[in-house]
Amino acid sequence: MTQFTVHPAQITTPEMRASALTDPGFGATFSDHMALVDWTAELGWHGHRIVGYGPFELDPASAVLHYAQEAFEGLKAYAHSDGSIWRFRAEVNADRFQRSCRRLGLPELPVEDFLASIDQLVTLERDWVPTGQEQSLYLRPFMFARSPILAVKPSTQVTYAVIASPSGAYFGGTGVQPVDIWFTRDYTRAAPGGTGFAKCGGNYAASMVAQLEAEAAGCSQVGFLDAVEHRFVEELGGMNLFVVTADDRVITPALTDTILEGVTRSAILKLAAASGLTIEERRITLDELFDGIDTGRFTEVFACGTAAIITPVGMLKDADGGHVVGDGSPGGTTLRLRQQLTDIQYGRVEDVHGWTT
Ligand code: PMP
Repeated sequence: MTQFTVHPAQITTPEMRASALTDPGFGATFSDHMALVDWTAELGWHGHRIVGYGPFELDPASAVLHYAQEAFEGLKAYAHSDGSIWRFRAEVNADRFQRSCRRLGLPELPVEDFLASIDQLVTLERDWVPTGQEQSLYLRPFMFARSPILAVKPSTQVTYAVIASPSGAYFGGTGVQPVDIWFTRDYTRAAPGGTGFAKCGGNYAASMVAQLEAEAAGCSQVGFLDAVEHRFVEELGGMNLFVVTADDRVITPALTDTILEGVTRSAILKLAAASGLTIEERRITLDELFDGIDTGRFTEVFACGTAAIITPVGMLKDADGGHVVGDGSPGGTTLRLRQQLTDIQYGRVEDVHGWTT
C-alpha cells in the first residue's frame, strides 16, 4: 500500500471542530489535513504526503485557471455505531476518476494511490467523522493542471489533492424532504463527444446559469435534456434521476457519454433489481415523463447521488408549468430504497454486496 508521509498540523480550534460536527451543513468546513501527490511528465507521481489544510500557491498562468484542466470526485466516510469508520465503493470512484482524467488529458492516478489517500486521510481525521443521523465525512479528491504556460496543451505539472468536510443533508433541513426540479430548455449540460461523462469542473461551471434559472423558478435543482434533440431527460446538475412506475418498474436514463455514471445510481439499480423491481435503462423524453406523472402511471421520481443520497422529487416543472408527482410527498419505493442504501452505508445490515470497506 502506498504510504503518505504525515506532517501533523492543527489548523482549526476545538470549538470550530465541535460546531462543524454538531451542525455540519454541506461542504462549508474542512478538517485539519489534506492529502497531496504531485505529478510531472518527468518524474510521474511523487511526494505522497498529508499536510495541514491550507491555500495553494499557484502561478497566475497555471493551466487550470485558464483552461479548466481539472477533474474531481466525491465520496463519503461513514461512522458505524461501534465507532468504526467505513468507505462505500471507493474503487468505483477511483475508476471514474481515471476515466475523467483521461478525458481531460490529465494523468491517471493509480487506483491504489487513490484508495491510500482516502484511507490514510480518514484514519488521521477520524475525529472529524460526524456521528449524527445521516451525517458523514465528505471527501473531495481532485486533480488540477498547474503548468505555468498559456499555450493550449495538456499540462506537464499536476497536483492531486483530497480534502475532507463533515457533512449533513445536502439540501438542508431534517428528514426526507422532497425537492422540486426545473427542466431548462435554454441550456444543455453536455454534448455527444464532450465531457458529460467526466466529473470535471467545466461541466459544473456551465450548469451554474441553469441552476440560477431553476432557483428563479422556485426549484432547488436543474434538470437537463439532451443536447441534440432537446427531448430526452439526461440528469440533474449534480444527481442522476429515477422514475418508479405504478406497475413496479424503475426507469433511469441509459448511460451515454453525456451522463455522469453515478456510484449511487449503479448501487440503486442493484438494490432495485434485488427487491423484485423491473429495471429499464433507456431513453425517456420529458413529454413521456410529464405524461406519466399526470396520468398516474409514474408514481414516484427521485434524484440520487453521494451527497443527496436518495432525494424524492415532489414536482417537475418547465416553462409550461408544474407536474406534481403523486401527492407530492415521498413515495414508498423511494423511501424503501433509501433505507436499504443507508442501512448498508451505516452498517445497520450485513453488506452482502461487499460495497463497504
Ligand atoms: N450526476 C452529476 C452531474 C453529479 O455531479 C453527480 C454527483 N457526483 C451524480 C450524477 C451522482 O454521482 P454519485 O452517485 O457518484 O455521487
